[in-house]
Order: sequence, then structure tokens, then C-alpha cells
Amino acid sequence: MSLCSAAAADDTAPCKGSRTAVIVGLADDPGSQVTGCEFHAARRLAFWRDGYVMSRDAAVRRRVLDAAERLRAA
Ligand SMILES: [Zn+2]
Repeated sequence: MSLCSAAAADDTAPCKGSRTAVIVGLADDPGSQVTGCEFHAARRLAFWRDGYVMSRDAAVRRRVLDAAERLRAA
């Protein structure tokens, strides 16, 4: 089973939530923008310290931001 676009190449953890729920990217690199699930978007955002997150659903966006914060703190 393939993962969403936000999953890192070496990531084997399964997607969680909608696979098209979130867009993450780097503010200074338009080519970095990817659409993915909440779980992998949060992982990517935790890795990209200058990243941004967009979602039509404000609650989804909040969850991804919170999850990324937890990953950074871990
Ligand atoms: Zn995913």
C-alpha cells in the first residue's frame, strides 16, 4: 500500500485520516508543497521548522499543528 505524498521516502507508518486533508510546504520553497494525511503532514511539519500547513478544515489544521509540536518536543 502506498502512502500519501507527505510521507517521507523511508517512512513505513500507515496514513491516518484523510489522505487529502492537509497541504504542507516550506514558505521559501514552492516546490516543497505536498498534500497528505494528517499524520504524515504533522511529521513533515515537525521536520520542517519553517513549514506551513493549510486545510479547509480549521480543526484539522489545528490537530496537525499540535501533533507537529508534540513531535518536536519529543
Ligand atoms: Zn500519510
